[in-house]
Amino acid sequence: MCATCGCGDDAAAVITLPHEHEHEHEHGHDHDHPHEHGHDHPHDHAHGADHVHLPVTETITLEQKVLAKNDELAQRNRDWLAARDILALNMTSSPGAGKTTLLERTIREFGDASIAVIEGDQATLLDAERIGATGCRVVQVNTGAGCHLDAEMTHRALETLDPAPGSLLFIENVGNLVCPALFDLGERGKVVVISVTEGTDKPLKYPHMFAAASLVLVNKIDLLPYVDFDLAKCREYAAMINPGAEIVPISVTSGEGMARWYEWLRSQRAAIDDHAPAT
Ligand code: MG
Repeated sequence: MCATCGCGDDAAAVITLPHEHEHEHEHGHDHDHPHEHGHDHPHDHAHGADHVHLPVTETITLEQKVLAKNDELAQRNRDWLAARDILALNMTSSPGAGKTTLLERTIREFGDASIAVIEGDQATLLDAERIGATGCRVVQVNTGAGCHLDAEMTHRALETLDPAPGSLLFIENVGNLVCPALFDLGERGKVVVISVTEGTDKPLKYPHMFAAASLVLVNKIDLLPYVDFDLAKCREYAAMINPGAEIVPISVTSGEGMARWYEWLRSQRAAIDDHAPAT
């Protein structure tokens, strides 16, 4: 569970597309129903007179414990990926910023590596079906009540997906700029996608996510003439939070800026190759 928001991940399920018969589906039926997890939400304690004074230190200890366990599993994923020379990127955004559309176009156009995708959503196979339609290897993780992927879910997805050595792995996280910032999945870097239909002040409002990002993609710039979005200001805010992160304006629809995205992917690929152990 996420100690910050109290959401549960016990019902998380790793699901392959129906036509992929070689893998068994996992539905997590033996777990509790998501709605039953609300009882451990910190704010719920305020409703019971006995628990009004929940010590803050207890919450912090729990959060540290949850994150420490996640970090341990994430390191195992990282070692597993490194041993196979796989470049893994954790793709994060608000819902609707265009992550899946970005991946669809990237899969079609980026010819430098074979690509595999882990799709994270609370429910449905819809994004995995879109990615699968490109011919790309994909597995869907449904997080149930959970608002983020964690290292354990990623581990289970990796076992099912079994991405090819040397491949590029996109992990499309659940649309959420809060909790995914805290949970390391074992990726090489986080890519944050925002779009110009959102507020210019997104980097200031969600500083943890922008601080954790290796790259910020500002999508839908073809819509700039029609929306009240200040690209220069957004760059300024993002640089205040994370001076090291490059900001790349793109339009997945028109293709503008996509060449720089592909260049960045190649640079990450090359950096992995440089550090790969001699074989
Ligand atoms: Mg999506």
